[in-house]
Amino acid sequence: MRAEKKEVVIAGAGLPSLLLALKIAEDHPQNKILILEKNAELGGMFRSFDYGEHGFFDHGMHIIYETCIPAIDDVIGSVLDKDQWIFLEGNRKDIAGIYYNNQLQKDTPYVDFRNLKLKNRLRYTGGFFYNLALTLKGEPSFDNAEEALRWRFGKLVSNEVFEPILRKLYSRNLTELAPFATQLLAMNRIALFDKKVMLKLMKSDAIRARVAYPDQLNLPNFRPNNQRGLYPKKFGMFRVMNAIEKKLNKYGVKIQTSADIKELQVEGKTLKSVHYVTRESGAQTVSADHLYWGAGTPPLAMLLKMPTRALKIDKNPPGRFVNLIFDTPPNMGELYYFYCFEPGFQTFRVTRYGNYCADADEKGLYRVCIELWPQNEEEALKTQPLEVALSELKKFGVITDKHRLVFSAVEIQAAGFPLPTVGNISNHKIIRDFIVSQNISNITPIGALAEEGVFFLKDVLIDTFAKAKLRGHIHESN
Ligand SMILES: Cc1cc2nc3c(=O)[nH]c(=O)nc-3n(C[C@H](O)[C@H](O)[C@H](O)COP(=O)(O)OP(=O)(O)OC[C@H]3O[C@@H](n4cnc5c(N)ncnc54)[C@H](O)[C@@H]3O)c2cc1C
Repeated sequence: MRAEKKEVVIAGAGLPSLLLALKIAEDHPQNKILILEKNAELGGMFRSFDYGEHGFFDHGMHIIYETCIPAIDDVIGSVLDKDQWIFLEGNRKDIAGIYYNNQLQKDTPYVDFRNLKLKNRLRYTGGFFYNLALTLKGEPSFDNAEEALRWRFGKLVSNEVFEPILRKLYSRNLTELAPFATQLLAMNRIALFDKKVMLKLMKSDAIRARVAYPDQLNLPNFRPNNQRGLYPKKFGMFRVMNAIEKKLNKYGVKIQTSADIKELQVEGKTLKSVHYVTRESGAQTVSADHLYWGAGTPPLAMLLKMPTRALKIDKNPPGRFVNLIFDTPPNMGELYYFYCFEPGFQTFRVTRYGNYCADADEKGLYRVCIELWPQNEEEALKTQPLEVALSELKKFGVITDKHRLVFSAVEIQAAGFPLPTVGNISNHKIIRDFIVSQNISNITPIGALAEEGVFFLKDVLIDTFAKAKLRGHIHESN
């Protein structure tokens, strides 16, 4: 029996949406699929900047981490030939550091108390263990970041160590930030002891959950899975997007970029059609049996006519990518990237592409991306991103006076990191609840924050594929 032909529309062409389109096309080639993307390019945050003779730069650090679900990982893997991928495995899956207490930590991305003054090290270690003994019963739920950090590390460490770090990152108090703020970067553990001691203490699950082994490259195998990171052998994440686009074209999937979705025509509780405008073809209407909305829930709620007052999302000024090429390797050891936790710096993260993709470096040309997060509009207007980036890289010790700058470009971040405030998390819930309350049978929100706690690519993919399986558009999701 021939399966019924369906019109599937996917709004937003981030990586999860593109992989979903590919899987639907593979499983049900008879379906007509249309992707509508607001931008001129596909891939969302997984795009790359093209600087002509100076080559490409990704939008900061992006590696595709497997979901550990074969039906999904097979789709990711199939995008390129096996020999075109780099597989980052074991302790080399993610080599991250932090700049904290005026030191670039290369051995662990967790705040390392061994670098603190002895007096504070003793106070914090004592406070931590006193608290640990009181909180062994299992993790409760928390209303804000302060509660989460106090439960994990005790009041002293929460107030004196993490409060300044989170304020530096998000310009908010711990009570204004959601527990989610402590999950975005490595804040679930602290480093306290040397390797020998930790090898013994790690036998305790309670300690291993909160105290880090201080040497990430030699971490004993305590991992719950064999998740790998994937990156194309030739530098530039755009290659993955181009390869998906080529496959989608082969399947006859229609891709419309620079599309402005103006209206969703709903009759009763069913979406009938999507109205959009493009510069070259003007106003267009497409009938839709199903719409997967992967373009953020606020614009979907707006199209479904949610009162705009509730759609307020609190933001900091957009960040900047400062893309640099030097004539000498930056001093970052084997780090793929590090976060800056030190107050007084604009740097959020520094990425050294050549450490996970050798092709990013050419002889005598080494790429670094610095993401700057100005604290407020005044700081954003007052400071020159290139000057700030070079000065902070020197303070980190990543470059010296000997490093010659060969190329630089500054870009404004289109989609910044969402501010993980209690208010924003609650507004996202109100928005999701509004969408659910509309009870429209054939619109499915997917993508980051489409569901509570779904943010990282792995979780977004698992959520997206599970929903598509439930709606009969793909065969398997696990
Ligand atoms: C700054 C940042 C960095 C992140 N880094 C990581 C990371 O390193 N690892 C990780 O696992 N997760 C990371 N995440 C989480 C990330 O949300 C997920 O990894 C995942 O990529 C999100 O995919 P998405 O398709 O939902 O969003 P996106 O990649 O943002 O794609 C959404 C697409 O929808 C388009 N769009 C928006 N509005 C409309 C509209 N009205 N009509 C049509 N199209 C529209 C956009 O142009 C974009 O192409 C990061 C998130 C942010 C914000």
